[in-house]
Amino acid sequence: MQDTIQNLTIQNSFAELPSAFYTRLSSQPLTQPRLLHANSDVAALLGLSAKAFDDPAFLDVCSGTAPLPGGKTLAAVYSGHQFGVWAGQLGDGRAHLLGEVVTPSGNWEVQLKGSGRTPYSRMGDGRAVLRSSVREYLASEAMAGLGIPTTRALALVVSDDPVYRETVETAAVVTRVSPSFVRFGTFEHWAGSSNNLRTLCNYVIDHFYPECRDTASSEPAHEHAAVLRFLRAVVERTARLLADWQTAGFCHGVMNTDNMSILGLTIDYGPYGFMDAFQVNHVCNHSDTQGRYAWNAQPSVANWNLYRLASALMGLDIPADALKQELEHFETVFLQAYRGNLSTKLGFRRWEEGDDELFDDWWRLLHTQSADFTLSFRSLASALVQRGAWLSRFEDQAAATVWLDRYVARLARDQRSDEERIGQMNGANPVYVLRNHLAEAAIQAAARGDAGEIDTLLGLLREPYIEKPGFEAYASAPPDWASRLEVSCSS
Ligand code: AMP
Ligand code: MG
Ligand code: MG
Repeated sequence: MQDTIQNLTIQNSFAELPSAFYTRLSSQPLTQPRLLHANSDVAALLGLSAKAFDDPAFLDVCSGTAPLPGGKTLAAVYSGHQFGVWAGQLGDGRAHLLGEVVTPSGNWEVQLKGSGRTPYSRMGDGRAVLRSSVREYLASEAMAGLGIPTTRALALVVSDDPVYRETVETAAVVTRVSPSFVRFGTFEHWAGSSNNLRTLCNYVIDHFYPECRDTASSEPAHEHAAVLRFLRAVVERTARLLADWQTAGFCHGVMNTDNMSILGLTIDYGPYGFMDAFQVNHVCNHSDTQGRYAWNAQPSVANWNLYRLASALMGLDIPADALKQELEHFETVFLQAYRGNLSTKLGFRRWEEGDDELFDDWWRLLHTQSADFTLSFRSLASALVQRGAWLSRFEDQAAATVWLDRYVARLARDQRSDEERIGQMNGANPVYVLRNHLAEAAIQAAARGDAGEIDTLLGLLREPYIEKPGFEAYASAPPDWASRLEVSCSS
């Protein structure tokens, strides 16, 4: 473990790509930046001890004041489909990639978000507000705690610099960490330029999907086979990610192709939401007036996005039919992961024929009663012994009884001990999720310079399956005031 960020071993693989892939530049520092919070879990991944947080060099790097020693700061270009429409060139409009920390268990790219304008900023100011930065900082760690693939967050730096959104807010910078920040949109950007597309494919396959290459040959037939295996792997990771989102009640909010990680990670936390009251067509993003990214639409949107990725790969002269064949695995892999997740959450040994109906009726019960997503799953473990208490969660107790009786009969078929079943369920149904109102309380405290709520939440969300005495309020359905909260694309 290093005690200073200055001693990390740094590489710059992305910067070794041709210069068309990015612009080298400096980040724009905040005025009088302050380290509001730093994350010892993520620091440990980088081989950095928490002592490093006290070193002024840490704040210098995480505020964009100084480059990462040994790093080559850059902003990457990408394109994308936003809300189903081709948006053309986008890119890191307010993010700076600082370099890549080399560790024995793999390399981690370090990226600032909110660190100033770049050639890809378009009309934007290059900044991120405190509100959205706290939300990103907390959400990526909440997802990690749930075991859902995600980019991570190392540090949250704040300042008094004004940022103009609907009102005047203040600027913050989140330091994000991921093996790579390459998106579907990075491939879409190069769809019409086969040399760069080939370079990008080789880079991503060599660094992140080496198992897709079975020979070093660059014969077109071998290249095509490797790209097809790579597409297949992205399809599978994305399908499993979506199964995880659905069964955690997570809504991403802006599933544009530029917000889809090529590594199958959850990336770009904006107007996301963990559902409170369950509605199948819940839309967490107030700006999404058409409901394109509603909870029940997410898997098919991911599939649509994978089609955009595959069609970019046609730029390598790979036959469309061959690409399409790989895309067709999405449904199978998604269903298998989804059924597996739900079976685990409901306490079954494994998915069985007929369980889909029970799942569908479970969702129907929650939807018609607007039952709390997280509490409904968590409380199910004790529904057999505390039947009355469990049923009293529902307004229509008759409907809940019908479902519960079928569920109890299904459990009986598994013939396993309550202890074993409950252990499995409690390891899969979190007590704590990052509800909007909890994030809001942390934002309000952060705006007063108080990181206490962030710290408390991280402590709970890091181990979300473990009930902690004294923190009942963090495990409850939202208070009335929370219904007034709206999250939008404004960030
Ligand atoms: P998002 O909707 O957050 O995925 O962002 C879409 C695009 O807009 C990306 O290219 C971002 O870099 C860019 N962008 C978002 N907010 C800003 C901002 N405040 N300044 C510059 N670029 C931005
Ligand atoms: Mg984005
Ligand atoms: Mg965003």
